[in-house]
Amino acid sequence: MPVATITYPERIPLAHLPTPLEPLRRLSKELGVELWIKRDDLTGMALSGNKIRKLEFSFAAARAQGADVVLTCGGAQSNHARATAVSAARLGLNCRLLLRTADPGQPPPLSGNILLDHMAGAEIVWITPEAYREREIVFAREAAKLRRAGRTPFIIPEGASDAVGAWGYIRAMAELAEGMDSAGILDGRPTTIVAATGSGGTVAGLLLGAKLLNLSLRIACINVCDNADYFQHVIGDICTTCIQDYDLNLSIDMSADLEIVDGYVGRGYAFSQPEELALICEVARKEGLFLDPVYTGKAFYGMVSELAKDSCCFGERIVFIHTGGLFGLFPVAEEIAELC
Ligand SMILES: *Cc1c(COP(=O)(O)O)cnc(C)c1O
Repeated sequence: MPVATITYPERIPLAHLPTPLEPLRRLSKELGVELWIKRDDLTGMALSGNKIRKLEFSFAAARAQGADVVLTCGGAQSNHARATAVSAARLGLNCRLLLRTADPGQPPPLSGNILLDHMAGAEIVWITPEAYREREIVFAREAAKLRRAGRTPFIIPEGASDAVGAWGYIRAMAELAEGMDSAGILDGRPTTIVAATGSGGTVAGLLLGAKLLNLSLRIACINVCDNADYFQHVIGDICTTCIQDYDLNLSIDMSADLEIVDGYVGRGYAFSQPEELALICEVARKEGLFLDPVYTGKAFYGMVSELAKDSCCFGERIVFIHTGGLFGLFPVAEEIAELC
């Protein structure tokens, strides 16, 4: 396959790559579309999911700056925070996490990702949703504290969704194109790549990668929080900054190049509806595949709901990116048990 050679910034290999690309035969039949899945839930065990692809580049940037401690942030059960904590442990760095919770005086129990953060030795600073909105201030304060103690902190933004982290999914797009070519499905038939979006970096990378490689694939994302307007801006900004910072010879037209399928936030970020959880169970039973409640379960629910309205809406073929999140299932065990 004539894939343009891309010059990547520095990267520390942490993920198990390439991840498999697999057909979902029973669901394809049921949904009336050829459905494939890119198994980015298999990038590792504790390092599973999409964040580790971005962090390979973020940690390279941290190392280049001589950092001995990384700071990042997220929701209480953040997959990104957990991947950062585990990566830091792997690389012999310290890690401080700013995690959001309603009452920092009564933080959530050590379960799911929080347990892994703790076991990997990350220091957790619980902050309120209000403080989280102003997290740049908290980052600056924590970084100053660390510097005063003689440390060299490096700040990784939410989800590692910046111009640096986007390279993780530029590289994933190249890997996916190779996998599709090997599977004989880079054949020009109308194909859509579908992914969940939360902080935008994954989709920004996919968009940039598809452009750099001149791939004629549609890219659609399902937002798990906020709305289409918000993500047009967030994803657009990451793309623009990446193009500028790395002097890429391309342009992105956010309304033409990306489809944002809005309307599936449901009860809100990290809150599930019974029908979403029921679908997660159904997929586990039909395909032996586990989606997560916060991202992939919602995105899959959105995709299936759109297909129910029009089975051709994504073309003849879909490649759904399984971005991980397995550990998010355990904190909602009781809700799920009632539905399966
Ligand atoms: C973070 C995350 C996403 C969303 O990726 P962004 O790059 O933040 O948009 C999707 N799925 C899972 C499991 C995640 O943890």
